[in-house]
Amino acid sequence: MPQTDYDIVIIGAGPAGLTAGIYAARARMNVLLLEKAAPGGQIIITDWVENYPGFPEGISGYDLGEKMLIQAKNLGLEISTEEVTAMELSPGVKTLHLGEKTLTTKSLIIASGASPKKLNVGEEKFMGKGVSFCATCDAPFFRDKTVVAVGGGDTAVQEAIFLTKFVNKVYLIHRRDELRATKILQERAFSNDKIEFVWDSVVTGMDGFFGVENVHVKNVKTDETKTIKADGCFVWIGTVPNTDFLTNSLELDEWGFIKADKHMETSVPGVFAVGDVRDTPLRQIATAVGDAAIAAVSAEHFIENLA
Ligand SMILES: Cc1cc2nc3c(=O)[nH]c(=O)nc-3n(C[C@H](O)[C@H](O)[C@H](O)COP(=O)(O)OP(=O)(O)OC[C@H]3O[C@@H](n4cnc5c(N)ncnc54)[C@H](O)[C@@H]3O)c2cc1C
Repeated sequence: MPQTDYDIVIIGAGPAGLTAGIYAARARMNVLLLEKAAPGGQIIITDWVENYPGFPEGISGYDLGEKMLIQAKNLGLEISTEEVTAMELSPGVKTLHLGEKTLTTKSLIIASGASPKKLNVGEEKFMGKGVSFCATCDAPFFRDKTVVAVGGGDTAVQEAIFLTKFVNKVYLIHRRDELRATKILQERAFSNDKIEFVWDSVVTGMDGFFGVENVHVKNVKTDETKTIKADGCFVWIGTVPNTDFLTNSLELDEWGFIKADKHMETSVPGVFAVGDVRDTPLRQIATAVGDAAIAAVSAEHFIENLA
């Protein structure tokens, strides 16, 4: 086996990447974690997490991310602020491009997560002017105002409830006639006076002079359209995988998430995919850290078998 810079490189410092880093550092592997932005991943924009075990009262997403980061650093994990822009993968050496720089590794754990899916109804024009994907970041700007929230899963319902701490009213627009969110979240949303549900509906556009003023909605069953006067539009309709750097090197599912087996190994030996970027039925912190523990141990075995 040719010499490489690292035994294991991990891409992404969300819950999955940090967990893989904790396991690999404790196994005394020669490991590097690369993160292009602030460590913590999506949880640092999550107001409150109450379904991750070990925190009976719940914990803010930011604090949970910070604790994971401190734990990984305390165990000696090397973390570098760099973006992986491209790669060449072979069963032997994996070469990563970080802009102008390159580095090589025997095994790779991809924990690059996912980003919010866009509505694609012209909302780009209103980014930072009423359209947001992050209630924790932007809710205070909408104090005593009216906003629209779009989506029906856990994130949409949980974040819509959080918005009601600031705004006067939230219209929650969902394309179906029932929510997908966990029952406990549904109960809280249904008993919240500030949330009005707009069922069987999708957002078709928005307009406004300086920022969002009107959100246009269509009922998918009746085709009836209406306009909701709102100062903001928060969008939580799912995610797309962060895989731009892959350049067709791995097998993906039909939505572009990376396929992996029960060891979290992808179509290229020694390359593992974990957390939200993986083809998985549930994208949560608990599942991300579970994937990562498996992948780190699998990577260790992969390297042992190379020797
Ligand atoms: C608003 C909101 C609320 C949520 N609430 C909950 C909740 O209450 N409970 C729960 O369990 N889950 C919740 N989730 C889901 C949870 O946050 C995700 O499942 C989890 O963060 C996935 O972890 P991950 O490490 O796989 O990916 P991410 O958290 O997406 O982390 C991926 C990291 O990789 C980095 N990265 C991406 N591409 C590159 C690259 N090319 N080079 C270097 N770095 C890169 C990113 O910057 C990011 O830091 C919520 C999500 C959102 C958005």
